[in-house]
Amino acid sequence: MLEITAQPALKDNYIWLLRNEECRYVVIVDPGEAGPVINTLIANSLEPLAILITHHHHDHTDGIAELLAWHDVPVYGPANESIPALTHPLTEGDRVLLKEIGAELQVLDIPGHTSGHIGYYGDGLLFCGDTLFTAGCGKVFDSTAQRLFHSLQKLATLPDETLVFCAHEYTEENLLFARMVEPGNNAIIQRLAKTRQLRQGGAATVPSTLSEEKRTNPFLRCGRAEVIRNTQRFAGRLLNGAEEVFVALRHWRDVVDRPT
Ligand code: ZN
Ligand code: FE
Repeated sequence: MLEITAQPALKDNYIWLLRNEECRYVVIVDPGEAGPVINTLIANSLEPLAILITHHHHDHTDGIAELLAWHDVPVYGPANESIPALTHPLTEGDRVLLKEIGAELQVLDIPGHTSGHIGYYGDGLLFCGDTLFTAGCGKVFDSTAQRLFHSLQKLATLPDETLVFCAHEYTEENLLFARMVEPGNNAIIQRLAKTRQLRQGGAATVPSTLSEEKRTNPFLRCGRAEVIRNTQRFAGRLLNGAEEVFVALRHWRDVVDRPT
């Protein structure tokens, strides 16, 4: 049985640890730092099996070198980004077989946050880095909002019960923005209350499910009347189709520093 745990790291990152209770190996997703991972693994008599990377940003890759110095393991990651120590460059359609922990993950190209960003999907689990966030999505760095739109649309075709493991704890702030965009959506209000309760107890609000995202994440709701109306009001013009709404919505999110 595959077991996923969150290793909190840096300010608000989650490093996902995949293991199978039947063995001592752990697959490490996006190690932005090594120290906390090494401590957790030593404390539980575990050792690394592989490192999986979603994109090149430092808060996802800075721990690689120190982890490799401790245990030299394969490093999987996007072929189209420059990541030191990558041993297995991946693109759409590739598969990562992690047979020691009984997992096989499929690689999805999901550019938009960065130009070569990839995701890993398998066993009903999605590791999507900084592309799809709980109740939000990543900022656009070296790519375009149009690409990000198509990547989110692609993720939305996965089964509703897919668990969404993104790389940051941003749910509460994202929901405040979601509420500005869609004040009439009760599912957002309910999710905000549940999120605050979890955060007060220090618990992670990740993973979510894709169905929860479809109900409350404005970036997956660009065809909805209230989202269209309010995004048009922000943009000051009519927006033609979901992609244009998405691009304007992403811009709106960028200019709202602290949603309330
Ligand atoms: Zn990033
Ligand atoms: Fe990040």
